[in-house]
Amino acid sequence: MTPANKADKLSPDASEKGDLSMPAKVDMDKIVSLCKRRGLIFPSSEIYGGLASCWDYGPMGVELKRNVRDAWWKAIVHERADVVGLDTSIMMHPAVWAASGHIDSFTDPLVECKSCHLRWRATEMEGERCPKCGGELTEPRMFNLMFKTSMGPVEEEASTVYLRPETAQGIFVNFDNVITTSRKKLPLGIAQIGKSFRNEITPGNFIFRTREFEHMELEYFVKPGTDEKWLDYWVKERFDWYVKLGIRKENLRLRQHGKDELAHYARDCYDVEYLFPMGWSELEGIANRGDFDLIQHAKHSGRELSYYDNEAGEKYVPYVIEPSAGVDRSVLAFLIDAYDEEEVEGEKRTLLHLHRSLAPVKVAVLPLSRNEKLTPLAKEVFNKLCPNFVTDYDDSQSIGRRYRRQDEIGTPFCVTIDFESLEDKQVTIRERDSLAQIRVPIEELGKILEAKLKGEAFDASPLWTTREK
Ligand code: ATP
Repeated sequence: MTPANKADKLSPDASEKGDLSMPAKVDMDKIVSLCKRRGLIFPSSEIYGGLASCWDYGPMGVELKRNVRDAWWKAIVHERADVVGLDTSIMMHPAVWAASGHIDSFTDPLVECKSCHLRWRATEMEGERCPKCGGELTEPRMFNLMFKTSMGPVEEEASTVYLRPETAQGIFVNFDNVITTSRKKLPLGIAQIGKSFRNEITPGNFIFRTREFEHMELEYFVKPGTDEKWLDYWVKERFDWYVKLGIRKENLRLRQHGKDELAHYARDCYDVEYLFPMGWSELEGIANRGDFDLIQHAKHSGRELSYYDNEAGEKYVPYVIEPSAGVDRSVLAFLIDAYDEEEVEGEKRTLLHLHRSLAPVKVAVLPLSRNEKLTPLAKEVFNKLCPNFVTDYDDSQSIGRRYRRQDEIGTPFCVTIDFESLEDKQVTIRERDSLAQIRVPIEELGKILEAKLKGEAFDASPLWTTREK
């Protein structure tokens, strides 16, 4: 046993467990507390008491969020020849929102308590009195969810603009630009990731519903008549994306919208739902928007928005299939699904079984102790790895505590440098879930980690293998 094994007192049983079982529902408070403790997500403006429903992503959270975005972009844009990307501005011409129907229809019915003046979504009310103070409620009235601001230096003369409530409209108004410049044929998708803003009446459940959030949206333009086939295709693709990235199938389900539930623009719609701690809730919506948006923008702008199909020799307005997901809501689902607690030799181990590609840190370099003989070699190993992998270097506190910290942020691999390493130029790699360890030459470390991070079995042909004890 190497000193690294000795220091971390975990039972070998944990590694043999194999299944990553955990309670179906994790308490949201545990997720919030882990996020705060490990620098994933902090309340916004915390030193001023925070701002309702606003959250800041800390050093680990920013990496996780970026990995979620990158995984989506890779699957949707880079790994396909039929999708291109776009990045449009948050503030758009106000006519866009008249055309899209957001000025008239992007509303929620709201009731207000006559005593405490708290406002509630009418559709979420169970009784007839205020849930907070029992006061009498007003009749429901429609409340527009778009944030308004003014553009221009003199407020009275400035024009009203809105912060976009979705990124999709930036794609529709650029349809013609993209079609003519990309020289691609239909079916063609245009993808965008970016901030959206909604003045939600009842934000909450941590980052599940906030007033500022990030969308990952694809508008996939198809020939009318092929739309149903493409809707089925994208529903499956999107469901599988979450599964591929580690979410357990039993915590996901599809729900088709009832006819009375469909948005004004939608011909059909499915939600991918996840079993959040508060119950099954929408993770992503996949809608068949028909030709609603292009027709509306053509009407309001006076510009023709259609497509000439060379093969069919006809011109038509494409239909659109829209998978629309939230970055933050996905981050929350990935965190909840990855969260696990184990009791190992009387000690609690909290860990995130995050998929390798989502883990904020891929490799942690941990010298056995902050010893002047070990430090130069450990730094050398760190410098070798960090250009290729997001690598952490940590030499504070006991090795056991450092393993625990890395487990809690879901770091797949820890590399331990011990006194034997000085002699044999080998280090120990320890794997997060199985706690298996392999000893490898420093010279081959980069190559081995690269293969493991791509999914190679952990103990394929190591110099020697053992279990962390
Ligand atoms: P909900 O019914 O939860 O309000 P929605 O149907 O209005 O959502 P869409 O407009 O379809 O949501 O947006 C697509 C995705 O964007 C949602 O599935 C969700 O992941 C994310 N999203 C929407 N609103 C918010 C929000 N206020 N905070 C965080 N994410 C959001």
